[in-house]
Amino acid sequence: MIVHKTAVAVSILVCLCAALAFAQPPGPNQMPSVIEVPAAAQANASFDATAATDAYMAQISPEKTRRSNDYFEGGYWLILWDFLYGVVIALLVLNTRWSAGMRNLAERITRFKPIQTFIYWVQYLIVSSVLGFPLAAYEGYFREHKYGMATQTFGPWLVDQFKGLAIGIVLGGILVMLLVGVVRRFPRNWPVLGAAVSYVFIIFTIFIAPVILVPIFNKVTPLNDPKIVNPILRLARQNGIPAKDVYTIDASRQTTQMSANVSGFGNTMRITLNDNLLRRGSPEEIQAVMGHEMGHYVLNHIYKGLTFLLIVDLVFWFYLWGTVGGALKRWGEKWQIRGIGDTAIVPLVILLGSVFGFVITPVMNSYTRTQEYEADMYGLNTSRQPDGFAQAAIHLGEYRKMSPGAAEEWIFFDHPSGRNRIYAAMRWKAENLKLFMPQTEPATAGTPAAASPADAGKK
Ligand SMILES: [Zn+2]
Repeated sequence: MIVHKTAVAVSILVCLCAALAFAQPPGPNQMPSVIEVPAAAQANASFDATAATDAYMAQISPEKTRRSNDYFEGGYWLILWDFLYGVVIALLVLNTRWSAGMRNLAERITRFKPIQTFIYWVQYLIVSSVLGFPLAAYEGYFREHKYGMATQTFGPWLVDQFKGLAIGIVLGGILVMLLVGVVRRFPRNWPVLGAAVSYVFIIFTIFIAPVILVPIFNKVTPLNDPKIVNPILRLARQNGIPAKDVYTIDASRQTTQMSANVSGFGNTMRITLNDNLLRRGSPEEIQAVMGHEMGHYVLNHIYKGLTFLLIVDLVFWFYLWGTVGGALKRWGEKWQIRGIGDTAIVPLVILLGSVFGFVITPVMNSYTRTQEYEADMYGLNTSRQPDGFAQAAIHLGEYRKMSPGAAEEWIFFDHPSGRNRIYAAMRWKAENLKLFMPQTEPATAGTPAAASPADAGKK
């Protein structure tokens, strides 16, 4: 539950958004870089947002579309397989009484209860990681290579997995010690206190993630290429964002995917572009993506996300309160779990947490997608790069289905679909067409030089 919940928290609050465009022919897994604006998307008196969207979509060959759809739709099934596989592991560990055995071993090693809990957690995490390894390797390594996304050989990938396990042991261990302690000491009020402790812990993890956790896997450096940095700094200043907050990360160490994100909060909050985006994105595209990221920053999405997370956290703990007692009454004896404060209960809590997480997937996706749409609109208004934005949407289509059905988008998409993003950009362009018309137009107060970003949004 701990690792899972932390991952959920981070995934809600860290938006993964991406982009690109370059001169070399794209690899088999890469979307075309649309540096030239298609004829139907060029500004003229007969500009039509739908026709412009279709023109951008037509840049993607059926073969690329099929590949991207296969990859993304496979991800829908992985949500189900991950869930079922996790349930099977939890039931196995409970029914074979391995969980009780790990607790007994921990009790033989030390009399100090928090250390017993930690020793239990180390055993449990190692056992469940070993059991979960086949699916993790398929999902994180073999499948990524099959679709040309992964850049790591097996050795370095495995090293990253061990780093993840070590983080899980340390952070998860601390959290489990705290939570088991709370449940033992407060047998009546543990749902509220457990929610509070896990919430503070999640905030702590989000706070340290950009400065402590991310650098364990990747190198993060401040951006310093003036050609890229100067327009970004200008955008940042226009939006009241401290300029020191723009970083780049060597994501190409693991993947070909382009992305950027806003992470951390308070004085660890920062905007990061990955190096794939920097290398393959046109300047217009990078500006469009940065405008979007600044939207997250200015619209306080991290703080709003934390508030949303507090609600989810409370619901989860009350759900736990309502289910865990009944499960113990029915199977506790069989699993040799002594009661609610027994560390051997951890797989049951993780099992119940997986059910919860599986059921609320569409809710979490819809919450995130709503914020992403807000950031898209903000980004268009501030960067005024609808064509760069359309390029970015196409590049992101390398790992996201471009044209899903409405229900499919609602359930599975944590960002608006590529087609909807291009349409939103082209609609914005249609409604701000003056900004893009040739200079021979009679000069008015609305010429590009005179218009401010704030004006642009209101037109
Ligand atoms: Zn985003």
